[in-house]
Amino acid sequence: MNVGPGTVALERVRASASALFARIPEPPVYRRAEDPSRKAAQALLPDVERVLAEALAVAREPAVSPLVDRLIEALRAHGEALVHTADGRLEAAELAWRRAQDLERSAHPTRQMVAQPSRPPPVFDKATGQSRFDPRPAPQASVKLVCPNTGCKRMGDYAFIASHAYHRFICPACRTPFLAYFGELRGLEVEVRSSSKRYRFTVDEVGTAATTRIDFEEASGQDFPAARRDLLAFLYTEQRELKVVVNLTNGKLMWVSPAASCFVATAAFGAGAPELVAFRAYRDEVLRKSRLGRGFIRGYYRFGPSVADWVVRRPRVRAGVRWALVRVHHRLTRSERA
Ligand SMILES: [Zn+2]
Repeated sequence: MNVGPGTVALERVRASASALFARIPEPPVYRRAEDPSRKAAQALLPDVERVLAEALAVAREPAVSPLVDRLIEALRAHGEALVHTADGRLEAAELAWRRAQDLERSAHPTRQMVAQPSRPPPVFDKATGQSRFDPRPAPQASVKLVCPNTGCKRMGDYAFIASHAYHRFICPACRTPFLAYFGELRGLEVEVRSSSKRYRFTVDEVGTAATTRIDFEEASGQDFPAARRDLLAFLYTEQRELKVVVNLTNGKLMWVSPAASCFVATAAFGAGAPELVAFRAYRDEVLRKSRLGRGFIRGYYRFGPSVADWVVRRPRVRAGVRWALVRVHHRLTRSERA
């Protein structure tokens, strides 16, 4: 892919376009009097014009990636769909919107990574000895994933077949299997709660393009940068426990800390125990406010789950941890009252 002048500007316009696309709703399915979607479509048009102007400026730079041209086409198609929606021409809006979706996909850099040129194999190739009747491997891409198994976390390259959403891999380091589910991001809602974030991913499954929802509550409060059409991998242990979400388009990943946020405390007291509330409050009101505290939280979420697994399996340790945490809890609640 093109790496050179213009790449930073291209990334910037790609980000603005992606943020804009995420705000563009599907055209309404049927006509209604006083449809609010007409006004909403009208209101989005200045933003489409602004991002389109940005993209056109990038396209004038020398040696810029051809992706920008597809982005421009996608923006124009979305603009057209919005004009039709605003004027109440729903069939035309639907057609333009569908075209915009296809263009949006083809403008996406991940497409380049996964798509393979489809050329028929020769009937018989003397040089390689291959014949068309040989079983040929499906188009394949190599993706960087992290082993989600507790205590391993090894990064590795895995072969991903673009026609299948579910893959089962075996980590070469710990020799433990894990599951990966691949999909293109269609929508992401993040609801910030007092001690966690609720993530609602809507993804188009790779291969089938069926739409699925993946919801979970995440306790570490980390950020997960993602744009529409990014290729995501959801990594599970063999016990179907979601551990990691990887954004293969930008290389960012998020470790999923269970909603019962204090692993060690949850392991000691049991989920939903009232003591947990005080620990969560302490994390949010005291620890998160200092740099040292934030470092502690990161380390805790990294190693806490392994410690918690270990605690759960040992009743006497569990009792000991509980005893220690009760004392911490007393101190926390006393300092709150003071
Ligand atoms: Zn491993």
